[in-house]
Amino acid sequence: MDVLRLLADQRCVICAARGTLLCSACRRQLPWLQGPLCLRCGEPDPHARLRCTLCARLGSSIATARSALSHEAGGGAIVRAWKDAARAPVAGLAADCILATVPRPVADCIVPVPAARARAAWRGVDGPAALAEQLGSAWSLPVRSDILERIRDRPQRGLTAEQRRRNVAGSMVHRRAIGGGVVLVDDVLTTGATARAAAHHLRRAGADRVEVVTFARVATIA
Ligand SMILES: [Zn+2]
Ligand SMILES: [Zn+2]
Repeated sequence: MDVLRLLADQRCVICAARGTLLCSACRRQLPWLQGPLCLRCGEPDPHARLRCTLCARLGSSIATARSALSHEAGGGAIVRAWKDAARAPVAGLAADCILATVPRPVADCIVPVPAARARAAWRGVDGPAALAEQLGSAWSLPVRSDILERIRDRPQRGLTAEQRRRNVAGSMVHRRAIGGGVVLVDDVLTTGATARAAAHHLRRAGADRVEVVTFARVATIA
């Protein structure tokens, strides 16, 4: 299939316009998370404080968190296209959105949140790993997918924040030692339970600092 044909077959993930994965009109209307932000957790904060009331969801192992978009309207539509249709090119689109909004973290490597094996196989894509690869090449950081491993997989959907925390605790392990600053990458930051568990294991494995970067985030915390 030639390049023109491939382009013509692409459709905007939001409005289905032909010829692009994201048309310029939809791109303009995305719920971008752009300043002023809380300097720690990256939530919109008119005073750009060092920390805010929403920082609590990061726990003690995560230094900072940044996301490109809010998980509403177009942001959620992109995540659904990426996850449910297993459209691998959407990882590139998600990376582009991050690169347009999130400054390159000062870090030594990138670690994707480990996908549950069953889910990754069902969708045919491992979203966080694909996103980590894209960001790794753009930021010239090595991607370390060998540090964290998911050892059991129970869906988080429909659980309260407290139930998610319990569900995810013990769901992953660290397999190797790591040092320096780590960028932890995931598709969506929801309650923060998964990112907290992953960051906890990265610190146990020897990481000095964990900065979370996600494509989207759910703004309100249960
Ligand atoms: Zn569109
Ligand atoms: Zn905050």
